[in-house]
Amino acid sequence: MTCREVVELMTDYLDGFLSPADRARFEDHIHGCDGCRAYLAQLRTARSLIGRAADEPVPEPLKAELMNAFRSWKSS
Ligand SMILES: [Zn+2]
Repeated sequence: MTCREVVELMTDYLDGFLSPADRARFEDHIHGCDGCRAYLAQLRTARSLIGRAADEPVPEPLKAELMNAFRSWKSS
């Protein structure tokens, strides 16, 4: 597997979408390649930050306000 392929598969890897065979080849490459390992670590950190932000519950009244605002933007 080349670095380019590894980078393209990285999000699938983090989401657990790779087949067992691809996953093994991916991990083989990561173990032997400092650049890809560093990139994977960065991507994982970035995604965990995004995930945490998305998990913040939106209070219901605020959500209703947002929906109303969204509707009025669309109709104007
Ligand atoms: Zn690489």
